[in-house]
Amino acid sequence: MSAIDSLPPLREVIATHQLSARKSLGQNFLLDLNLTAKIARQAGDLTGCDVLEIGPGPGGLTRGLLAEGARHVLAVEKDQRCLPALQEIADAYPGRFEVINGDALEIDPLAHLTPPIRIAANLPYNVGTELLVRWLTPREWPPFWQSLTLMFQREVAERIVAQPGSKAYGRLAILAQWRAEARIVLSLPPGAFTPPPKVSSAVVHLDALPEPRFPADAAVLSRVVAAAFNQRRKMLRASLKGISPEIEAHLTAAGIPPTERAEQVSLEAFCALAREVAKA
Ligand code: SAM
Repeated sequence: MSAIDSLPPLREVIATHQLSARKSLGQNFLLDLNLTAKIARQAGDLTGCDVLEIGPGPGGLTRGLLAEGARHVLAVEKDQRCLPALQEIADAYPGRFEVINGDALEIDPLAHLTPPIRIAANLPYNVGTELLVRWLTPREWPPFWQSLTLMFQREVAERIVAQPGSKAYGRLAILAQWRAEARIVLSLPPGAFTPPPKVSSAVVHLDALPEPRFPADAAVLSRVVAAAFNQRRKMLRASLKGISPEIEAHLTAAGIPPTERAEQVSLEAFCALAREVAKA
């Protein structure tokens, strides 16, 4: 019998440990172990990797990650009620699973991890987006992680992988695609979760690129993109006026018509513009 078979079904875990879902913690659990195994498989080859999991809850995805051969899983869970359930998993996989009880937005788990590191999580959406932005904007590139496999509200997932010319295209797409390869790997209806959320979800997988797709200074690119999309309906010569008094010349030098709107500008062109602005 494998370690995973010795563990009770997740519905039983929830009943035994009285893990009634709390809205305040964004708790929508995945109870189908076939599904959590499928998500874990999307995280890439886990053998020889440490995996950081945020918000394991009753541990469905955790089980999948361990069964897929993760060398070590470190989980950060805010809800103390989940700890006894997670201890059962730790007992079934001696030395391979560790839990930190705390808020993922406040804890720095890096000291507990050994590269190569992959990150996997089914998190409340607001926490997920905030962590994604932090993971995509480290002080140095390449980052400490090799890949991110994260559940999002479908609409947010679409913003991460969006291409120019679409409504979903904006800061998140540029941030994610500048230094990572991002794709939607799985779509899930509300009924996949207990309790079901109001909207559909999707799993996004991001592989860190060894270096940015196009050269640019991260702070300048971020400033330009923020200004451009804050007033996305305006022409760039107007929305970017505050960036530089020479903005029309910079736009032209970057090959972007000053009358263009942010939504139409490719990542490559935004990087070219950031280089022109930085040169001045
Ligand atoms: N991963 C589990 C699953 O797939 O069934 C649970 C998913 S549930 C959507 C989100 C989990 O994140 C809950 O267990 C919740 O307690 C936890 N959580 C919420 N906010 C958190 C935070 N700031 N830091 C760490 N965990 C958090």
